[in-house]
Amino acid sequence: MAATILVVEDEPAIQELVACNLELAGHRTLRADSAEQALKMVHEQLPDLIVLDWMLPGINGVELARRLRSDKRTQAVPVIMLTARADERDKLAGLETGADDYITKPFSPRELNARVKAVLRRRSPQTTDDVVEVAGLRLDPASHRVSGGDESLQLGPTEFRLLHFFMTHAERVFTRVQLLDQVWGDHVFVEERTVDVHIRRLRKALTPTGHDRLIQTVRSSGYRFSAG
Ligand code: CA
Repeated sequence: MAATILVVEDEPAIQELVACNLELAGHRTLRADSAEQALKMVHEQLPDLIVLDWMLPGINGVELARRLRSDKRTQAVPVIMLTARADERDKLAGLETGADDYITKPFSPRELNARVKAVLRRRSPQTTDDVVEVAGLRLDPASHRVSGGDESLQLGPTEFRLLHFFMTHAERVFTRVQLLDQVWGDHVFVEERTVDVHIRRLRKALTPTGHDRLIQTVRSSGYRFSAG
């Protein structure tokens, strides 16, 4: 699952450089020239990560990061701040607003990609291509293959995304609404019982190797993926 990354930068050359590098690394990008435009875009589609320039006309990057953190809907979206200032106090101020990481200009594409990868791995592991393995069940995002022991398992695209999310967030209970937001994308108008339909299909697909038992129903709450 490629990550959708919103790049907020008013300097066209830098915006282009950042976005192109992220696209070359396999991500989808959205671009905004200002914090105001970024807020509108975030309202329409929640990105997996935001690369945010500190110095913006109008609302600046620090203020935007603060607003994103204070809104329940956007508070979990990771933010990497871009800045021309190498001042330690500025760095602290940026991190205090809740930025996950900080890159000082000028930076190399390699550094940018490494930071983005590290933050995604920490905050949204389902957007990386890392192979995940739990209790003999193995999912490879790059080749889109799932296997239980030596046996290969056949999953539909939605079941694959659902399993990838579960495997990277094991032992936690998710409500149907949370699963819709995380796996289907928020602002998607799908009925909650759609989740049950896909859970049923996922369990069926995992039955040949007995891994269907890892998908647990938590009464009146939702579902949990558990190796225990
Ligand atoms: Ca700027």
